[in-house]
Amino acid sequence: MEIEAEGTKESLQGFQDEITNNPPLLATILDISTENKKIQGFTRFEIVKSLREKTRKTLISPDVSVCDDCITEMNDPGNRRYNYPFINCTNCGPRYSIIMDVPYDRQMTSMADFKLCDSCQAEYTNPLDRRFHAQPNACYDCGPKVQLFDSEKREVPTDNCIRKAVQLLQQGHCVAIKGLGGYHLAVDATNRDAVQKLRRVKNRGAKPFAVMADSTESIRRFADISEGEKKLLTSFQKPVVLLKKNSADSETALSEIAPRNKTIGVMLPYTPLHCLLFQYELKVLVMTSANKKSEPIVIDNEDAFTTLSELADFFLINNRDIYLRSDDSVIRQVCEKTCFLRRSRGYAPTPVVLAKQYPPVLALGGELKNTLCLLNGDKAIISQHIGDLDNPKAHDFFEMTAGHLTKIFDVTPERVAHDLHPDYLSTIHARKHIGVPVVAVQHHHAHIASCMAENHLNEKVIGIALDGTGFGDDGRLWGSEMMVCDYREYQRAAHLSYFPMPGGEVAIKEPWRLGISLLYQAFGKEFPVEKIPLFRNAGVDGKKADFILQMIDKKINSPETSGMGRFFDGISAILGVRETISFEGQAAIELEMIACEEDNLSHYDYSWDEDEMISVDAAMIVKGVVADLLLNEDISVISRKFHTTIIYLYSDLCGVVRDKTGLNKVTLSGGVFQNGILLEGFVKRLEGLGFDVYTHQQVPTNDGGIALGQAIIAAEAEFPDKSDSCVAHHLT
Ligand code: ZN
Ligand code: ZN
Ligand code: FE
Repeated sequence: MEIEAEGTKESLQGFQDEITNNPPLLATILDISTENKKIQGFTRFEIVKSLREKTRKTLISPDVSVCDDCITEMNDPGNRRYNYPFINCTNCGPRYSIIMDVPYDRQMTSMADFKLCDSCQAEYTNPLDRRFHAQPNACYDCGPKVQLFDSEKREVPTDNCIRKAVQLLQQGHCVAIKGLGGYHLAVDATNRDAVQKLRRVKNRGAKPFAVMADSTESIRRFADISEGEKKLLTSFQKPVVLLKKNSADSETALSEIAPRNKTIGVMLPYTPLHCLLFQYELKVLVMTSANKKSEPIVIDNEDAFTTLSELADFFLINNRDIYLRSDDSVIRQVCEKTCFLRRSRGYAPTPVVLAKQYPPVLALGGELKNTLCLLNGDKAIISQHIGDLDNPKAHDFFEMTAGHLTKIFDVTPERVAHDLHPDYLSTIHARKHIGVPVVAVQHHHAHIASCMAENHLNEKVIGIALDGTGFGDDGRLWGSEMMVCDYREYQRAAHLSYFPMPGGEVAIKEPWRLGISLLYQAFGKEFPVEKIPLFRNAGVDGKKADFILQMIDKKINSPETSGMGRFFDGISAILGVRETISFEGQAAIELEMIACEEDNLSHYDYSWDEDEMISVDAAMIVKGVVADLLLNEDISVISRKFHTTIIYLYSDLCGVVRDKTGLNKVTLSGGVFQNGILLEGFVKRLEGLGFDVYTHQQVPTNDGGIALGQAIIAAEAEFPDKSDSCVAHHLT
């Protein structure tokens, strides 16, 4: 914004200091510049309507949790908005989720149909009022209303929908609740039967649920909260924060909510409606995104009744439309740093500010945990979480968001970036951008570039991308990459040796196949079956194992991978921790969760092929693991030693690459770094060896962050003459 102010030098300086040091709650000051102007003799404070610029440079606010002032008013029986579930002001309320187009005013939002009453209009037009130009401003007389229905779409007779909904929750019912960015399915978290039933009807397997608690005091009864975590929990973004469980609180069905997990995802109430729910004796609710498996979160009332009729017993709906869905954001703190597992509500579309200016680029992200990135100037707008693009509804949401972002930010992309994988839906979508140059970006190069970009690095680095799988430029599935790269080019420096994935995609869901594949590679057909837990409790018998060995021998549907995530999966299966999974990453997560706390720093032997491109012998590490099994070593110790092995291995490799290249900056990226032991271990060990280490703190380290890297790489790419597509360069 532009401010013209007149006064003495001192008072103007004081004015500027006040703005810099004490900005409004939602303001982010990126830069301040001042210039002297002719004295006009202003006599009053005035807000002047902005001139419509040729290019819209508007930034759009994310959705903001209800502010303290609004909560105070809502709890005041004398206030005209007493108990009103849609109270908001310029400091809080819905934004991104209700904006249909810019300029951002009420007519361009889903509030357009609600005509302001006289009282609200007076607030809206008064520059001294907290609701001056608060677009979603509303009250009982003119704003949205809640209604309560049963699953047959019959309105539930009551004079207080919210109190009635709480009673239903307390009786063990599942209530679908329309929130800020979509519907949640809620059940009382202290009711074991209700939680189990929700898990069953949602066909959720063992995937943890997030919970919402009324206060940090309630949370402390079942989880520890550090100072940093408290800051995150109570921030205006109100994300889900993964906290360490502190006991098996018998009142909370914790073991049902996050089984086999040391952490539990917790958030505080973030809408006025949530706050009202918690004023009646509720302490903790399971609040999980309301959707059918892998489909996007439900936002539409009619859709809710059809899609969720088998999941929810009751529906607490309202008539304020959600235009753009956004799921809850999920954060884990490691070494007191913020690690996004999902960056969505509250954060999108706040830009990541870059070190330099770029032309407009739209990057389409990956296939799983998809997000989009719209690059323009020195800002990268990263979309809310779109999800896995493996079903038509998610794909519609992807296309809608791509169109919406370019519209509301008024940017016409000059380039489109996509993953190198030829079959990804995002790749197929990229081909539709006729006339716009298209850049294919290698998956792990994108991961590394994403980490570089948010850390303002623009030079050659040692990039580490440890990941599930991504398409490599040799047509194989990569995922344990160490690269020497900048934005323009990359050189593969090291990776794990390849091993077969018998059954291809199926092996990702059935890690026992990977376990057998790793054992076969290490021992041939003679592995010590009796001592390996995989063969004890997984129902994997000689016949099943033989079948896998034959697939590998005959090279039937057994693509080769060097993915670190797959390596973790295989080890997890060998140890009998997890042989088949019900959600992505489950085997690796459970391997991390069982690892013993104390770290005596012993590890398994490793070695590599000292070639131009280092290939690490995965089999040697597998042999070490099995040797410990033969000694009846505890699997929690083996897991810890395995983690330590990977940390030491890569630290050594960084040393080798530093000796060759002189590079000292290391970036860490890829989904495997969601593992807290690895992330913390890598940072400590590498810093101990004198490296400058850079990690993700603004975008997810998983595939939710790759669109940023794709965008920068595409912006920097050089096109061959007259060509309108290119593959970002790989040096061989
Ligand atoms: Zn407010
Ligand atoms: Zn009103
Ligand atoms: Fe990835």
